[in-house]
Amino acid sequence: MPEKINTQKYLDYILEETKKLLAIDSPSGFTEKAASYVMNEYAALGYTPVRTTKGGVYCEISRDSNKRDSLMMEAHIDTLGAMVCEVQPNGYLKLSPVGGMNANNAEGENCKIYTRDGKVYTGTFQLCDASIHVNGKFDETTRSYDVMEVVLDEKVKTKEDTLALGILPGDFVCFDPRTTITENGYIKSRFLDDKLSVGILLGFAKFIKDEKITLPRTVYHHITVYEEVGHGGAASIPSDVAEVLSVDMGCVGNGLACTEHQVSICAKDTRGPYTYEIVTNLINAAKRQKLDFAVDVYPYYGSDADAALTAGHDVKHGLIGAGIYASHGYERSHTDGVLNTFLLLTEYVK
Ligand SMILES: [Zn+2]
Repeated sequence: MPEKINTQKYLDYILEETKKLLAIDSPSGFTEKAASYVMNEYAALGYTPVRTTKGGVYCEISRDSNKRDSLMMEAHIDTLGAMVCEVQPNGYLKLSPVGGMNANNAEGENCKIYTRDGKVYTGTFQLCDASIHVNGKFDETTRSYDVMEVVLDEKVKTKEDTLALGILPGDFVCFDPRTTITENGYIKSRFLDDKLSVGILLGFAKFIKDEKITLPRTVYHHITVYEEVGHGGAASIPSDVAEVLSVDMGCVGNGLACTEHQVSICAKDTRGPYTYEIVTNLINAAKRQKLDFAVDVYPYYGSDADAALTAGHDVKHGLIGAGIYASHGYERSHTDGVLNTFLLLTEYVK
C-alpha cells in the first residue's frame, strides 16, 4: 500500500464514473446498457470482467493462489423506476413501480418511456388532473400509483393514439436523475443508490491497478442487477468466497448517527445483524485510518449481502456506504462521504 494516497485523483475518477453511470437509465430489469458500460470500464482499467447469466458484472480484482477466504465486494447498478401497466382511455400511462419509489417522490418528475422497438418518448409523472386551479381535491389526494399518470409529450387524446406510437404495457419508464454536484462537494441526484457505490468500486479497482498493489487475499467485485427487487446478490458467488461486503447507500435520518460526510458501517438492518467479526474489523479499520465514520442500525433496509445469505450461501457479511440523505427520493451525499468510504475499503483489504 502507498504511504500516502492521491485521494483527489481517485475522487475525480469516482465522480466522473458516477456521473456517467447516472446518465444511463437502468431500473431493475433494464440494466443492459449500464452493465455493458461497467464491463468496458473494468476492461479499460486492465481487468477481465465477465457478464453473469443474470446480467451483472463479475470481476477478479486480485488473486491469491490459495484462494481461501476470498472477499467479494458488491454494489448494484440497477435503480428504481417503473413500467407501463396500462394505456388509459385518455392516452396517458398508468405505471407500476419497479422497486420502492414512493409516488410522492416521483410526482412532477420528467421521465422517458422506452418502447420494445427502440423508440424513446418523454413525459411527466403527474397526479391525475394535476392543475391546482381546476382540481379542488389536489391537496387532500393521497399520492399513489393508482391516482397518478404519465402525461406524454405527444399529441395524444385516446388510447389508440398512444398505441399508435408503439407504447405498450411492459415498456420501461425511467425518471430523470437530475444529477448535480455543487462547488463545495454536495452530490445530489436520484439513484445515488447505488451508482455512487459502483463509482467507488471502480475507483478502488483503479487504485489497485495504478498503485500495482498485491492484496493478501483474492478479491472479487460483483456489480449486481435486481438489488432493488431483492435478489441482486443471490447468485454468482464463487465457492472460495468466505465474505460478502455490500457497498451500498448509508442511511441518514432521525435517530441515526451518520451524515453525508461520513462512511456508514451498518451493524444491523431489517433482516438482522451483520457478521459480528466483519463489523468489528470494519470499525477497527476506520479507526486505524482516523476516518470519519458512524455505526448505525438501519430500520428499513436489506442489502445484496443479505440476499446472498438468504439464497443459502455460507458466507460472512458486512455493509458499508457513503451517507445518503432522502433515500429513494432526490438523494444527497457529499464527496467527504465518498472519500471516507473509498479509504475504508483500501484499509480494510490490507
Ligand atoms: Zn441500494
